[in-house]
Amino acid sequence: MRSSMVTSTRMWTLAAIALLAACSGGSDTLTAPASATVTVAPDATGVRDSLSDVFTEGDEPDVVPSSTNPIRTTTTQRAETSTTLSTTTTSTSTTSTSTSIAPATTAVAPAPDGASPCPPTGARVWEVRPASDIPAPPLPDGWRTESAGTSVQGRDLTVLVRPVDAPVRTVMVVGGIHGNEPVSPPTVRALVDVDIPDDTELWLLPLLNPDGSAVGTRCNANGVDLNRNFSWDWRASDGGPAAFSEPEPVAAAALVERVAPDLVVWVHQPLGYISSIGNTPDSYEQAWANASGVPVRPDVTQHGGAESWTALVANLPSMLIEVDTYDARPEMVAAHVDGFAALLDVVVPR
Ligand SMILES: [Zn+2]
Repeated sequence: MRSSMVTSTRMWTLAAIALLAACSGGSDTLTAPASATVTVAPDATGVRDSLSDVFTEGDEPDVVPSSTNPIRTTTTQRAETSTTLSTTTTSTSTTSTSTSIAPATTAVAPAPDGASPCPPTGARVWEVRPASDIPAPPLPDGWRTESAGTSVQGRDLTVLVRPVDAPVRTVMVVGGIHGNEPVSPPTVRALVDVDIPDDTELWLLPLLNPDGSAVGTRCNANGVDLNRNFSWDWRASDGGPAAFSEPEPVAAAALVERVAPDLVVWVHQPLGYISSIGNTPDSYEQAWANASGVPVRPDVTQHGGAESWTALVANLPSMLIEVDTYDARPEMVAAHVDGFAALLDVVVPR
């Protein structure tokens, strides 16, 4: 199953490369799969992205480390991709967050069954994965729900809140940013059962991309990668028509700015690391890593990423949780519930 999916993915990728070559007007360098590199048009910052066209399960540079960051990975391919991209990230880290950039207009070939073009640059194809059937625990007493907004298709962006009068600290956790990462939503929902200190207020948004999750795609219903659509170092190459063009990132950012928590945690798969972003204390990533068994990767940034926007634009402490693998098993949820519980012991008010 997987090998056939990978094969079809590669076939489609080759077709997309050919189409890109036809549409590029000859200005771009397009390399055959032997060297596994596609260079696409420069974005508005004048920097060129180099994207791998080799995509296998788990080989997704969801988040790119900074150039000084030691890469903890077991695959040479991913390390090479990340290193290449990290140079770009470093060189553009000071760009404005509000630059107006024309939408990408590259035509896209249809995806084969079982795959989704996302983002629709023709360079990447993402596996479709169904949502997990791990049940959500009932909402305990003292919790309430509210809506942060609605998705492209009108699904509610439901927030679970454990309010506290005059909280000493407030922590927010967001999951389900990519709809094909099935363990993320049940992990965030499970946090309602953590033993929460009486002075700590929690805000949980388990599923930011309900439209993608409903069909198992990474992107939202507009085909936009939501973790490239935030305004920090936004790029036309893979960030949608414009920064914050999509209702889901707009809703998440509005919630973050309204609540202004002492920490926002963003939960993804499958890269297997824990990272405190920007000036967020190292003690946070260490606490979660020690309790969950997933290692630390320091100083991660991601162009257009929510966790980078939180730390570097909203100026709030921010963490990235990359659960290891694309599996969705109850013991994985339990490990990260333990990580979160350990985190709550060390979070300090801003
Ligand atoms: Zn993700």
